[in-house]
Amino acid sequence: MDIRPHLSADYVDLPDIDNNNTGTLTESEDQCLGMLGNLIAEYGFNHRFGVTLLHYHFAVDDSEIFLEEPSREMRMVTTRPIQKSSIDFTSVVPINIRFLARESLDGQDMVGLEYVSMVDFPGIEAVQESDAGFLKQFEQVLTTFSGHSRFGLGVIHDSLEIGEDEVLLEHCNGRSLHCNVALRSTVAQPNIIETFWTWKTLTDGIDGMKWCEKSCSRACFKSDSGSHSSGHASIHHNSNSW
Ligand SMILES: [Zn+2]
Repeated sequence: MDIRPHLSADYVDLPDIDNNNTGTLTESEDQCLGMLGNLIAEYGFNHRFGVTLLHYHFAVDDSEIFLEEPSREMRMVTTRPIQKSSIDFTSVVPINIRFLARESLDGQDMVGLEYVSMVDFPGIEAVQESDAGFLKQFEQVLTTFSGHSRFGLGVIHDSLEIGEDEVLLEHCNGRSLHCNVALRSTVAQPNIIETFWTWKTLTDGIDGMKWCEKSCSRACFKSDSGSHSSGHASIHHNSNSW
């Protein structure tokens, strides 16, 4: 599967997380999000994929790549840019994938915006060749709504066994994003920007009807001060329950 690692230009045209409008979805964008969720559910990929709100925190160099690393002892994850030259690209997989709007002869043009090591997340079901049909349809929905710079494909992963009542609160410290696990109830809702959604398929036991329920799985804690510091809150659901 041809997904190239991000360059600096792949981030600079994304909305800044501290911009007031970044977290506000228009009616059309909300519709786009719903259709992407339906598509994920149709393929039965609820346990693998979600949709990310694309955004920008700080400048990244062409020689760098965003890597997310968990610390089970401290129950936190850290995302930071590291040198591409120090990465073994056969051992990492993208967890946030951007689709570029420009056409290419061999199909969609995909960019990995954030990566994890398969050693850290051995159970991760990364994007693979057999997902080509799904990815094509995902990109077609983005095309319909001109959503290429708003939504990306997120690969569900969790090594911290985060409960449904918990969140990951992310704080931007210099060029690192530190996420700590906290109770969801501690999050100040007005400052939260939802940045990752997953869908649960529910079945009505009486008539067997199925439907999709969207839930926020990741959110940025937006800065009030106008400074560059900001944070994330991640709300993970146990993928086994899907
Ligand atoms: Zn963020």
